[in-house]
Amino acid sequence: MPAKGVAVTADVVIAGGGVIGTAIAWRAAAAGLDVVLADPAYGDAASLVAAGMLAPVSEALFGEGALLRVNLLALARFPSFAAELEQVTGHRVGLRREGTLAVAFDAGDYAALTRLTAFRRSAGLEAEELDSRACRKLESFLTPDVHGGVLFPGDWSVDNRRYAAALREAAAAAGVRVVRDRVTAVLTADGADGANARVRGVALAESGEIGSDRVVVAAGSWSGAVQGLPAGLRSAVRPVKGQLLRLRHPDGMPPVLTHTIRATVRGADVYLVPRADGEVIVGATQEERGPDLTVTAGAVHDLLHDAMSVLPVTSELILAETCAGLRPGTPDNGPIVGDAGPGGLLLATGHYRNGILMSAATADAAVACLTGRAPAPEWEPFGPGRFLTRQGER
Ligand SMILES: Cc1cc2nc3c(=O)[nH]c(=O)nc-3n(C[C@H](O)[C@H](O)[C@H](O)COP(=O)(O)OP(=O)(O)OC[C@H]3O[C@@H](n4cnc5c(N)ncnc54)[C@H](O)[C@@H]3O)c2cc1C
Repeated sequence: MPAKGVAVTADVVIAGGGVIGTAIAWRAAAAGLDVVLADPAYGDAASLVAAGMLAPVSEALFGEGALLRVNLLALARFPSFAAELEQVTGHRVGLRREGTLAVAFDAGDYAALTRLTAFRRSAGLEAEELDSRACRKLESFLTPDVHGGVLFPGDWSVDNRRYAAALREAAAAAGVRVVRDRVTAVLTADGADGANARVRGVALAESGEIGSDRVVVAAGSWSGAVQGLPAGLRSAVRPVKGQLLRLRHPDGMPPVLTHTIRATVRGADVYLVPRADGEVIVGATQEERGPDLTVTAGAVHDLLHDAMSVLPVTSELILAETCAGLRPGTPDNGPIVGDAGPGGLLLATGHYRNGILMSAATADAAVACLTGRAPAPEWEPFGPGRFLTRQGER
């Protein structure tokens, strides 16, 4: 039932139009729901800054088994999702499946890579150890000084800008209505503290209210600023700054890379991600600086220095763009996806370093919740309840 005086109503309102909100909007509309997506800066957020790695293997870290399982689910889902997106829009999204070549600059870096590789193998992930010469056979522009490396064939990548643009086009074609405004609050029928409170819509900064009995908060790093979320959830997502460079080959220069390279250079991590159109992404810093989007000279220097240490030809590429984005981080590095607090409220946020990778699987999980079905079991550890329980608010 629409709220009194509300001009716009919908089956579902989605707050946030990064890859997560837009992927959910597209799939929800394709499932027959009438969807409104609200975002004051639609098409301009972390989703566009990202490197586009779909890298469950080289992102697998000690103690993050549940996250690995959901990342593997996400990777398995990605190709069919991308294929449908390409078919609906007629645009290629640049999915590449060459894998990640992790390289270690010195013996200390190699020792760390060896320990991680043993862990990843024990989790059933494929890994092929390579000496320096074998690394250069795969990537001829690598410095001969590289100590050694490991090929992780189970990692892929996508051109996240093309992908995000295709998602927006597919959502529009499926009938999603976009309101360029900020959601200030989730509105509930019985007041925020009522035991049986239900969502009745959202309040917008400029354009009144939208009536709906289902609301998805997918506002990335800003999710906690939406009023009406249970307090434990408002503080669960924080921005983690990342600075990143976009390089381009000069006209006529053949591609300098085929695989994604993840290098450790005397303890510092850097990655280089090649695109089919000749772009090479170099990233990224990881900084706890709140909502700061400045690009610093030091970060540009460090990223280029480390990239050139392993791939000297980087110095011949054109520095086309420097940018910074905010990863939506959470206390346990896992996403927050599922029903939360008042009936009809769904969260899809906190995707931290893997939001591009997880977007398709998150859309599936969210649409399952919206249509009364259970999401895949891999999502079970990542419900909003883990933060409510921690705060004693259930
Ligand atoms: C440098 C860097 C590199 C990365 N590399 C990778 C990678 O290689 N692979 C990978 O999988 N992930 C990567 N990520 C992470 C990935 O970018 C994020 O996890 C992902 O973009 C999160 O998507 P999102 O839609 O939740 O958030 P965002 O893309 O941040 O979108 C949030 C949207 O919500 C809107 N919004 C905010 N507040 C409101 C409100 N109140 N009402 C309405 N709308 C609102 C914003 O305008 C924005 O459009 C990287 C991130 C960074 C910064």
